[in-house]
Amino acid sequence: MKKIHFLGECMVELRAGDASTMHQSFAGDVYNSAVYLKRVFPEVATSIVTAVGQDNLSDKMVATFEQESIDTRYVFRHESKVAGLYLVETDETGERSFTYWRSDAAARKVVDFLNSDVLAELATGDMFFFSGISLAVIEEDARSLFWEKLELLKNAGIKLVFDPNYRARLWRSEEQAKEQFERALHVSDIALPGVEDLTELYGVDSAQGVIDFCRPFGLQELVIKNGPGSVVTFESETLLTHKITPVTNVVDTTSAGDAFNGVYLGARLTGQAVSGSVQLAAKAAGIVIQHPGAICPVAAFDAVKS
Ligand code: ADP
Repeated sequence: MKKIHFLGECMVELRAGDASTMHQSFAGDVYNSAVYLKRVFPEVATSIVTAVGQDNLSDKMVATFEQESIDTRYVFRHESKVAGLYLVETDETGERSFTYWRSDAAARKVVDFLNSDVLAELATGDMFFFSGISLAVIEEDARSLFWEKLELLKNAGIKLVFDPNYRARLWRSEEQAKEQFERALHVSDIALPGVEDLTELYGVDSAQGVIDFCRPFGLQELVIKNGPGSVVTFESETLLTHKITPVTNVVDTTSAGDAFNGVYLGARLTGQAVSGSVQLAAKAAGIVIQHPGAICPVAAFDAVKS
């Protein structure tokens, strides 16, 4: 059985309903990807590597992982911290705004739990995914230790997969984000950047620009997302441009890239070629954006498989 581990943070999501109610769910880039991968490829063992608290919402979060058939053996329980939280509000014009309470979240401590026994188990996997959000969330003091642990996984032959997912507000400075991203690209085998991720930091504004920027890092596989424009891949010295069928009824693009990543990696893990994997991933993302929130209903998502 193929195995993939997703390291990062899942948060409690609150979405304002009418004047006196809020809808509560769970979301976070790596969690979203794990959910969509597992829904399409139940045969791939999919786990989340994170830390949550001992509080009730953390219990519910873990129960939600289990409902989605995500392996929770690497969901560690911090004794005093709690899960991070964010609120999504939508104004009269449909514009969304986000407020976060995550600066003291349990997930920031995940590296503390990656002892040698855990690493030995993670080293039996096939892929290990982390994002720019995962990196930003890890406490600054723990990052050098994180890189050491990642190096061990790499030396054990695990494919390391990185999506920069740049969120300016999570970083102390652009320089810090750039330094960490470049380190991630150096160590990774596969990268799945969106063009926009690199625009603010590096002034890159096209797929070709991303390829030129990434070339020195020697990635085995580069998959560049560019909204409804196209997906460009560079693998085994082959450059391919994949057409995307634009969705006309876009409701909410939250987690489009996450769904794409999860389904793409599931397809690659189960032996599909790059082109077929992109087509399936784009189909999945195209369904997700026709529904509100990060995680779309199971029934609607089933269309990916038809
Ligand atoms: P991110 O969410 O990381 O910013 P993108 O906006 O590039 O990433 O979207 C990820 C994927 O979602 C795209 O590669 C594409 O497959 C799909 N997608 C995004 N917007 C649309 C759209 N308007 N129509 C169809 N597919 C879309």
